[in-house]
Amino acid sequence: MLVFLDRWFSMLAGVIDTYAILPVLYHFGWMEWEELSFDWALIGVYGFFAVVVTYAVCWPLEAFFPIERWESRKTVFVDALYTVVNRVGVLPVFSFLLFYQVQVWVNGFVVAHGYIPPTLEMLIPPLLGHPVITFVAYALILDCADYWRHRLSHTYRSWYALHALHHAQRQMSFWSDDRNHMFDDVIAGVWFGVVGLAIGIPPLQFPLLFLFMRFIESLSHANIKLSFGRFGDRIIVSPRFHRLHHGLRAAGRNSCNYGAVFPIWDIVFRTADFSDEYPPTGDRRAPESMASGGYLAQQMGGLQFFVQEWRRANRSRRRT
Ligand SMILES: [Zn+2]
Ligand SMILES: [Zn+2]
Repeated sequence: MLVFLDRWFSMLAGVIDTYAILPVLYHFGWMEWEELSFDWALIGVYGFFAVVVTYAVCWPLEAFFPIERWESRKTVFVDALYTVVNRVGVLPVFSFLLFYQVQVWVNGFVVAHGYIPPTLEMLIPPLLGHPVITFVAYALILDCADYWRHRLSHTYRSWYALHALHHAQRQMSFWSDDRNHMFDDVIAGVWFGVVGLAIGIPPLQFPLLFLFMRFIESLSHANIKLSFGRFGDRIIVSPRFHRLHHGLRAAGRNSCNYGAVFPIWDIVFRTADFSDEYPPTGDRRAPESMASGGYLAQQMGGLQFFVQEWRRANRSRRRT
């Protein structure tokens, strides 16, 4: 099955490469990317497949075991747009233009100065020859970094104003994971990329890791009454665990359950809440455009909220 899928993905990537990417590269004279264009297309195909798998798993669960039933799903469609654009469009570009290219530069610089570029297997030799365990170790480290990025975004007023776009959704579903302000996405991308570079994730594993983590994250946003049980909820983030993070009373500071994939970081840093509740989601302070507007209205609303919170933070700093 896997071999069949792999062959099918490669074939599809080949078609996209030949008819869509290469003509553009030739037209603009960007021949230096020619060698990478097939991998680029392949990551796009993986991203598309990840969206299909997420939909196939989450849609029936949401249909049969919903927490809430909605009359209109208008805001859910906007979230779906975020997901498709991010996983099929932005991920391949980010992986290759930024991550791959920066990794080539950094490694070149490190080698030129007489050092060997770091890898996780070099730092933890028992991982050598155990690719699956190494993959999980990469995911754990990236998730720990993401825990702190997320927790800090709730600590600073103006940063939270951008992140509030993620929290403003009152109709939270498996599409809501990618609903973020573009500036918040840039911060997250750079954060992820820097940590990925520091632990030497191979460029082609990077998007796969990202998609694996994103699958868990999509599921955790789903409108499903689902927990993985007393033990399972402490291993992988469940819809119940992440919903507590999105609850109305958790919006802003003093929130809980910041972890995206593994709850261990919330347990270690004492922010975990395993209550058996499915609270209503949203953020009462965020402008309405961030909750129910279209894509552009949400992005603009986020920017205005950011400026407003930035000024408010400056005023209170001057007063003290
Ligand atoms: Zn949050
Ligand atoms: Zn979330």
